[in-house]
Amino acid sequence: MRILVTGGAGFIGSHACKALAEAGHEPVVLDNLRTGHRWAVRFGPFVHGDILETERVASALREHRIEAVMHFAALAYVGESIARPDLYYRTNVAGSLSLLEAMRLADVSRFVFSSTCATFGNIDHPIAESDGQSPINPYGASKLMVERLLQDYAAAFGIASVALRYFNAAGADPEGELGEVHEPETHLLPIALQVAAGLRPQLDVMGTDYATADGTCVRDYIHVSDLADAHVAALRVLEPGRFQAFNLGNGNGFSVRQVVDRVAAVTGREVAWQAAPRRAGDPPSLVADASAARDRLGWLPCYPALDDMIAHAWSFMNSRA
Ligand code: UDP
Repeated sequence: MRILVTGGAGFIGSHACKALAEAGHEPVVLDNLRTGHRWAVRFGPFVHGDILETERVASALREHRIEAVMHFAALAYVGESIARPDLYYRTNVAGSLSLLEAMRLADVSRFVFSSTCATFGNIDHPIAESDGQSPINPYGASKLMVERLLQDYAAAFGIASVALRYFNAAGADPEGELGEVHEPETHLLPIALQVAAGLRPQLDVMGTDYATADGTCVRDYIHVSDLADAHVAALRVLEPGRFQAFNLGNGNGFSVRQVVDRVAAVTGREVAWQAAPRRAGDPPSLVADASAARDRLGWLPCYPALDDMIAHAWSFMNSRA
């Protein structure tokens, strides 16, 4: 299939393009390069544009005879979303609406959406699709609004959609072609690796008084290449007029302290850290129950071990140094 990948120059989008190309699909990247990287577009044509430019997106859909859209282009920082909800609702909600309108103009009716576990809020057990969604930050709220849009567009216009709710994307392409490069970097794993590499003096552990085993937040880390594979699988279950959603994680929770310890062990370097205040909008624990993705998508992560995610990200970081 010919697939428009919005945000295909970004971390998860670029890995999805690689997985699509390997599965025999043809990815066409649409990216405004505000946070994405031109070097990461290597598996098909590139269109420099913004999802808010409805007409331009519709032309790209027609010109490349696109059959399905994978929508990664978004803002994705919890903390920033609290300070600047305007940006998040504009890019994530208005941007997705514009993209869906472009699809209607160009008669494209298959859609795979990058959603997030942040749509759930505070839930203290492994989170299944049947759990209630009650986001505690504008980022999660913006993604949940798009899920609602997709339900309504499925019912009214027959658009087939799948929302994939990622837990914490981590790692890098095992072959070393792609990886995570954010400026500024705010994610735990790459920051811990930068400390290990001597590029930062220390890591701030944001919150040490949560009601978790060691007082730090617990997250479910999932390899970016496994997320990419889930997108290829999602194409096979799209059904006209139907919205579906799947949670994607490994079902294992690691605390911030445990992540820091594993980074030190895998890299063989010291990772200095200090206790810091909580970051607004962070739920104490987010762990997936991904059994529906296993059953319905036939999705089985290839790299479930946190140490592999760390090793792949470390080797990508060193290859760029
Ligand atoms: N975190 C931290 N120090 C950092 C960056 C992140 O303690 O420098 C914590 C953050 O508070 C959260 C967890 O690490 O509990 C994962 O954060 P990240 O930003 O990587 O992903 P998120 O869960 O926000 O998507």
